[in-house]
Amino acid sequence: MLYQHLEQCIITIKQNLIVNGNQTGIRSDLLPSSVSQIISHYQQHHTVIPILHSEVTSQIYKQRFKNNVTNAQQNGDSREAARMLAVSAYGASVWKTTTPSTVQSTLSDTHYQIAAKLALGVPPVSLPSDCRSCHKADACETDPFHPLSCNSQKGREITLRHDSVVNDLHHGIKAAGGVCIKEPSRLRF
Ligand SMILES: [Zn+2]
Repeated sequence: MLYQHLEQCIITIKQNLIVNGNQTGIRSDLLPSSVSQIISHYQQHHTVIPILHSEVTSQIYKQRFKNNVTNAQQNGDSREAARMLAVSAYGASVWKTTTPSTVQSTLSDTHYQIAAKLALGVPPVSLPSDCRSCHKADACETDPFHPLSCNSQKGREITLRHDSVVNDLHHGIKAAGGVCIKEPSRLRF
């Protein structure tokens, strides 16, 4: 009974670590090839025993994430693929741990909710069906994220974001004791 249960556990873990039909392979020291190898395997790799559960779980979650990205790309859902890659990129979660010690580093409750929903892929706000910027009928009903790609908002929003980043960088450098000039006109690249 125990033998069968352990064998099933090993099979289940390996099945969870298959990506697109290819077994990417769990780290060889974490899991024995079969239950009959279990004692000799962990005698040989005894250092993994205290971290076995967290390591196997971590590898399974990583493979599931890769699976989800690959599935989104193969299904033509480029937005979902882009969202998953964006929220998992290095430094992408720093905003959640930033100390709200200044106006520049503080998000309002509303802005935090919108940012969190965008990160989760959830429609950020309730919108009327038609877009009030480009006046396209049912644009927001069809696509709750339409304002992020609305051509009528692009120029204005891009300028606002650019200016906000410039101002916050300027403030941050000065707060750190540095000297800087906003977009000096004499520089040419
Ligand atoms: Zn629009």
